[in-house]
Parts: sequence; C-alpha cells; structure tokens
Amino acid sequence: MIAQVVIPSKAKNIDRLFDYVAPIELDVHVGQPVEVPFGYRQEVGYVIRLKDDTEREIEELKAIDRVLSEDEAASLQPEMMGLVRFLRERYFSSWGAAIQTVLPPVTRAKMVREYVLVNPEGDFPEEVVLFFKRKKSVSKKVLQQEFHLTDHQLARAVNEGTLQVRDRVAPKRRKKRQDEDAQSSLAESFTLALTAEQRTALSSILQGVDQHEHQTFVLHGVTGSGKTEVYLRAIEYVTQLGMQALMLVPEISLTAQMTTRFKRKFGERVAVIHSRLGNQEKFYEWQRILRGEADVVIGPRSAVFAPLPRLGIAILDEEHEATYKQEKEPHYLAREVAAWRASRHDAVLVLGSATPSLESMYRAQKGHFQLLSLPHRVEDRPLAKVNIVNMRDEFSRGRYSLFSRPLKEALSRVLSSGEQAILFLNRRGYSTFLQCRDCGHVITCPECDITLTLHKRGSASTLRCHFCGHSESLPQVCPACGSSALRQFGTGTQRVEHDLLMEFPGVRVIRMDVDTTRKKGAHEAMLHEFEQEQADVLLGTQMIAKGLDFEKVSLVGVIAADTSLFLPDFRAAERTFQLLVQVAGRAGRHQLPGEMIVQTFSPEHYAVALSAKQDYHAFYQVELAARKAMGYPPFTEITQFVVSHIDDTQAKRDAEMLYHALRERVDGIDGVRLMPPSPTTVARLRGRYRYQILVVYRSFRAVMQALDDSYRKVLASIKPETSITVDVNAFGLD
Ligand code: ADP
Ligand code: ZN
Ligand code: ZN
Repeated sequence: MIAQVVIPSKAKNIDRLFDYVAPIELDVHVGQPVEVPFGYRQEVGYVIRLKDDTEREIEELKAIDRVLSEDEAASLQPEMMGLVRFLRERYFSSWGAAIQTVLPPVTRAKMVREYVLVNPEGDFPEEVVLFFKRKKSVSKKVLQQEFHLTDHQLARAVNEGTLQVRDRVAPKRRKKRQDEDAQSSLAESFTLALTAEQRTALSSILQGVDQHEHQTFVLHGVTGSGKTEVYLRAIEYVTQLGMQALMLVPEISLTAQMTTRFKRKFGERVAVIHSRLGNQEKFYEWQRILRGEADVVIGPRSAVFAPLPRLGIAILDEEHEATYKQEKEPHYLAREVAAWRASRHDAVLVLGSATPSLESMYRAQKGHFQLLSLPHRVEDRPLAKVNIVNMRDEFSRGRYSLFSRPLKEALSRVLSSGEQAILFLNRRGYSTFLQCRDCGHVITCPECDITLTLHKRGSASTLRCHFCGHSESLPQVCPACGSSALRQFGTGTQRVEHDLLMEFPGVRVIRMDVDTTRKKGAHEAMLHEFEQEQADVLLGTQMIAKGLDFEKVSLVGVIAADTSLFLPDFRAAERTFQLLVQVAGRAGRHQLPGEMIVQTFSPEHYAVALSAKQDYHAFYQVELAARKAMGYPPFTEITQFVVSHIDDTQAKRDAEMLYHALRERVDGIDGVRLMPPSPTTVARLRGRYRYQILVVYRSFRAVMQALDDSYRKVLASIKPETSITVDVNAFGLD
C-alpha cells in the first residue's frame, strides 16, 4: 500500500503529496498523523490518500515509520479532511495552511531535536559527557541553555561523528483548565414572550430543523428587533433534539456580550473558541465539544472549524461583516465554510443582519435562501432620528471646523445634560482620493465607476483605478463645476480628539482606534470605562460601530461619511450604508431617544440619503441595479491574485508571467474578464512591491480548473522570494 502524505509547512515548494510505503502492520488510515523520514530529518505528515501503485520506483520510496498516537497529535476526522480539501479547491490554499486552519495548534504535533552521544572520546567538556551518560539523549534546547553550546558547535560535533541527531515528536502535556466561569454555571431560564414577528421567523427556522435537510435562512431584522432572542430559541430547540449549534459573531470583542447572554440560558453547555485563547484553553474547549459536554459553540470566524459531529444549526450574526473573511491564506469566507458544513450535516444555516449583504439578499430573492423579516424594534422603540448635514453649506458659510453647527449644538446639549455621545470616524484602508469642496464631485474611473486613488512616487502624483489599472494626471480644477477647491480626503482620530478638546474644554474623551487598542484587554477596558460613565464621548473607528449597547448614549455623530463612501472598492456604497445603519442602531436603544448626525459632502448619494431613512429595500434595489450595469458581484465573482517581491522589476515580471499563464487558460471561457497586472492600493507593503491581477467571472465552476492550473504552474516556476496570494471572492480591492 502506498500513502500520499503532506508535510504541513509554510514553504510552498513542498506543498504537494509525497509517496511513502505504508507497512501493513502499521494499519495506516487517511487523516492520520504519521512520522516519516523527510530529507535528512524526521517530520510529521498527514495521510491524505491511500493507493495501490506509484509512478515512482517502489524501491526508491521510504516507508512511514509510525502512526502518531492521539496523545501526540489529533488526526483529521473525515469532516475535517473534507474541509481541508474544500479550502484547497475553493480558495487555492496550500495543504499546510489548510491543515493548520482546520486543526488548532495544540492538537498538532511538534518535532523536537535531540542529540545522542556516539563517541565519548570527542572533544566535549566533561560535564556534558557525564550529562549524556545519565540521559542518553539530550534536547537541543538543554544543550544550548545549560551548556551554552552554539548551533555551530553542535553541527561540527555531528559532522565529526561525536553526536548523532534524533528528531522526535514532543509529548503533549494535558493540563486541565481551572474553571473561571463557575459563577455562570446556573442555567437561568427566562421566559420573555416573543413578538408575533419573532414567532413567525422562529417557527420557519424550527420547521427547517424538523425537515432535517439543508436550508439557508436570511434573517433580516432592524437593530434591536430581537434577532438574538430568535437565535437563542432556535438553538435551545436544536440542542433539545440532541444536536449541536454553532453561533458565529463578527468580532472577538463581541463574543463576550453574546457569551454572557448564552451562558445565562445554556450555562456550562456553552463553549467559547477564539484566537485570543491560550493553547491549553483552546484544547480544553475543543475536548469538551468532542466529548459532547458542550453543544453550543460561540466564537468569531475561526470557530467555524470547531469539531461539531452533530451539527444541527449554524448561525452567523451580522452576516454582512467583512471580518467573516480571513485576510491571509487561506482567504476563506466563514459564511461559505459554514454553508459547506451545514450542507454536510443536513443542518440549517441562519444569516442574520440588519443590512444583509447584497449576495445573500440576492440569493433570497432568487429563492435559493428563505427570507425572514423582523421589520420593527421590540416594544416599538423608535429608531434613532437621523440628521444629514451638508458640509458644503458649512464651507460656503466660511465654517471650516470638523464639527458642523448642528453637531456642536447637539454635543453641547448632551454634555450639559450628563448624557453620552459616540463620535464615529469611518476610516478604513489608506487610500486618498480627490473631492471638490464646492460641489462634492469625486474623480472616478471612466471605465469602472470606481473612485480613483492618489498615488505619489517622488514628486509625481497620478490618479489610478484599482480595478482596471487606468491612470491619469491630477486635474487642476473640478471637472464638474470648474472650482479649484479640489482637496485630498482623510482625517485621523487624533485630529478629531484634538479639535474636540479645543471646542469643548474639559470634555472627557475615550479614543478607540488601532493605536490605542493594541494592548491585550485595552479594548474591553475602554468600553468598560465608558459604560461606567467615566467619559462623555467615545471617539473611534469602525470598531465602535457594532453591537455596543450603552444606556446613556443619546447622540451618535459621524464626522465624515465620505471617507468610506469613496474607497476604491465596488462595495464602498454598500459598506457605507451598512456602517451608517449600524451606527444609528447604537443610539436610543433604551429609555433615552436617540439622535444621529451624519456629516458629508455628498448628502445626495443614495447610500447616505437612504441610510437616514433606514430604508434597506430601496438601497438594495438601487445598488443591485448599479452592480448589474457594471457586471460586479453578486452577478459575478472576483478573484484577486497578488504577486509581490522586494524588487519592483521582479515583482512586475512574475506578475506578467502569471497574467500570461492565466490568459492562455481563460481565453475563450464564456463570461470571464481578466485585468492585467497593476499596482495594489498599498503598492509597497513591508518592503515588498505588490501587483494585482483580477479575474472577473460568472461561474466559479467554469474557471476553477483554469485558475488552479495556471496558479500552480507559475508557483512551480518562480523563485521562493516571490510570493503569490490568491483571494477568491475578494471583498475590498485591498
Ligand atoms: P437584535 O439582536 O436584533 O439587535 P436583541 O435580540 O438584542 O435584538 O433584542 C433587543 C433587546 O430587546 C434586548 O434587550 C432583548 O433582551 C429585548 N427583547 C428581545 N425580544 C424581546 C421580546 N420578545 N420581548 C421583550 N424584550 C425583548
Ligand atoms: Zn466641483
Ligand atoms: Zn477602471
């Protein structure tokens, strides 16, 4: 029997299957971790396939040494094996990245290098020789730390035949985690009566569960309409039938809120999995799920890989969020992975959101998904009143402050009455665009209708399209109105904080952005401080937009809606609409009525105007028509290849090679557009020059093989210094 084995590694040059003889007495199975000789080392690999013959000479093949025990490394269960294949086929993942994504680090084997003394006469200090005599084999770590032997000395000793190398699998220590959540172990049951809308939505989902066949529901409910309550009931039902539930949230910071609510209902049966858990904690939760002690798993994106042998329902809250997409290899979309798993288990998938993604709503309209609606807030609490401020008017009246008159007045009112405000700066990415301060016009690509981005190289500036690569020089005056007030856009949170303190001396501000929340726990600490009313204003980027619920917040201000509106991304309008609706949902969730003020230079833009009315359906219609006209998703799918190298010329050359390889294969396939290489938004990242190639197509199935073949062919012929990443279903354009 021949086993095809993968060595999980980041190195792309060994990203393939290696043939080994599988001795009968080892009884090797697919998915098992095995120890194999690999070059001059021993490595741990995973058996991907078993077969009867090999293209190589059988005498040349090495044999598997042994199968690792479950104590040393977890094996890939059939479903996990299926997921590895799915990640590879759908996202062009390497075997290594796919296996590492599916198995948490603590369940993977680690090799340690040890040495054996074979010639005691060699020139080693006596204490080392004595130590060897007592120990037989000594790890590299001990030799380096205790006896200060260098890599060089060890290598020489091996060369001279004094020492011999022995690689071995490190034993795993299983520690039991002491239980911190003991106080919430009391499974509290509560008996809120559901609203009629909630009941209708819930009964459709439960019917789906009863039918025991894979179905997807889009649960469209305005903020505060009681979606979470529906999730809780559906999960209760599923677990009572002896099945398990997966509850995904868009961000780690939101796991805590969700977990509290779930623990109140399900107590110890809740397992939480997220990337900030230590390895031991993760392993502990993993084991609890496998043993069936936990049947409700909560977590962000990565929890979609939790082992759930009896999955009955998978739920994505805020399913439209970009965080459900992993931005490194493999670039998976948690929604698709959850769908794959739900389908395998004949389970129900629920996609909940106040602003469903165009993709999901489009599928619901076409009848692939079932649409459920919660159009009203619980207890008919009113939605926040939204006030759009046209900053062009402010400018024309000579007011150049970051804060418009209406926002200033509202802030004073809030501060003097002891309430709280959230100020929001929707800034994402690094791109800069040109906008006319007089008429609001933004320079866009003539071909793609996507905002052109300012590129500076030395003293020269150009405007570039990140979709098709079109470039032009900077206009002197606004092409729409002739004004010379064309300005670059971009304001930072620090600047807003500074101006706020100038405007309102003594105001207590908490600023939350990537800079202030880098430290572990900082995020939670700041939110807690704000909740305890130790600050008047919470100022931040999108990280404050989601899920937060504070009783004293009566005002939400958006400093500049335009920053996200004109990102060089065909989803810019959708993202802006989602963000504004989401932010409006932060105000007035309790007794205080809410007000939202949106400052913008583009009050007429449909994403801004319709968000003020919270009119999702109108937005959906307009946006869908625009996407159709341009041939963007959901009518197509876009895959992005990024080729990077520290040398610009080499990066460009390899990108050209990939482009030609792709063109050879996709030419003639119906409904495919291939964009030639062009620099990415961030043209140079961590010292590497980056070029993107986009493929736009109608059917993934039709291009899958062509993309895979050309990508792997080029991968095999480039030097390891060039890196190529593939992003299927690319969300933003980087
Ligand atoms: P969403 O997830 O749609 O934002 P939630 O489920 O968080 O909404 O509900 C909003 C608030 O209303 C929560 O405080 C929740 O406890 C409460 N709530 C939900 N359903 C009901 C109900 N049927 N009756 C009374 N209060 C409810
Ligand atoms: Zn103008
Ligand atoms: Zn273009």
